[in-house]
Amino acid sequence: MNRIYFDYAATTPTDPQVLEAMKPFFCDVFGNPSSIHAFGREARGAMEEARQNAASFLGAKPEEIVFTSSGTEADNFALFGVLWANASRGNHIVTTAIEHHAILEPAGFLEKSGYKVTYVRPDKYGMVDPQDIVRAITDKTVLVSVMHANNEIGTIQPIKEIARLVKEKGVYFHTDAVQTVGHIPVDVEDLRVDLLSLSAHKFYGPKGAGCLYVRKGTRILPFLRGGGQERHRRASTENVPGIVGLGKALEICRRTMDKEAAEQARLRDLLIAGIQEKIDRVYLNGHPQERLPNNVNFSIEFIEGESMLLNLDMLGMAASTGSACTSGDLEPSHVLLSIGRPHELCHGSIRLTLGRYTKEEEIIRFLEVFPGIVAKLRAMSPLFDQKS
Ligand SMILES: *Cc1c(COP(=O)(O)O)cnc(C)c1O
Repeated sequence: MNRIYFDYAATTPTDPQVLEAMKPFFCDVFGNPSSIHAFGREARGAMEEARQNAASFLGAKPEEIVFTSSGTEADNFALFGVLWANASRGNHIVTTAIEHHAILEPAGFLEKSGYKVTYVRPDKYGMVDPQDIVRAITDKTVLVSVMHANNEIGTIQPIKEIARLVKEKGVYFHTDAVQTVGHIPVDVEDLRVDLLSLSAHKFYGPKGAGCLYVRKGTRILPFLRGGGQERHRRASTENVPGIVGLGKALEICRRTMDKEAAEQARLRDLLIAGIQEKIDRVYLNGHPQERLPNNVNFSIEFIEGESMLLNLDMLGMAASTGSACTSGDLEPSHVLLSIGRPHELCHGSIRLTLGRYTKEEEIIRFLEVFPGIVAKLRAMSPLFDQKS
């Protein structure tokens, strides 16, 4: 049985060219980039080349790139680092109700530690109104953090406009761009953001490598202490193979991104139209136009998301329900609740995310089997009997 992967928003396979680029940096070029001897200099050279790649991909300067262990670390670093460094300016941050847990959980922890956090709610498409952000800013606000695109429902936020309004208020602006970098254009000069998080494993790079872009002049303190690496902004011996992989993955995305996005959007639209045509009582989650080219998310009445996933899994198809990080607990997705979906519809949601290796036959295969799964599960649901 050929397995089919529709979960690229959870993680992507490492591109074989990326793996090839990383290989020498485990055994041959193993030096510590901080060492001044030739072993160290060799590793440092490769790391700086990757930094150059990341910087030019984002329209940034190399010294504005701080490598981290993940998107999660970059998000934590942005929040804590900026608040600690700007304590004299205030203790308030503004974010949204639909951020990834890598923002929401540190924000919740900050609240418990005496900081104030405002969570702006999006509209029914998951779109944040820039004016709502502006209204939430007070004279104590130090940082605003709004994700570029949502990992569950794919809605792309008007980051350029939000950043412009936030900057007019003299407040720092961070965006979690983990779902957009490598998929749609992201340029820090165009968007005018101060800080931006990305993660290599979401764009065909290795797991455990990410970075925080920090605009020159931004006051930020380290999140990890214990060494002078990354210009004293992030202690710890650098993950050289991971960093090389991150750089290589971006180099590939730079060449292929536009074509891939167009193809994925075509397949996405086939999938959305197919589901809407073949199954009744389904609701598309997220914005109909302003959405990631690879994201499909539906709520399906009278069905449990987990049952859909298990039935698909038995046929070798991988999808997700709610957010991959929270499935396992029974709390409905905070994103679906925030866009006003009732609890039952949150539980009956399915996310299909496409990628570099998705083929049209896979979409067709899914559309062949999925209506049958839905019909079977609905036949077992007492709620469905009552209403139909
Ligand atoms: C995956 C993801 C993260 C976390 O990145 P890791 O590298 O897996 O820690 C953060 N934010 C968003 C929007 C994500 O999709």
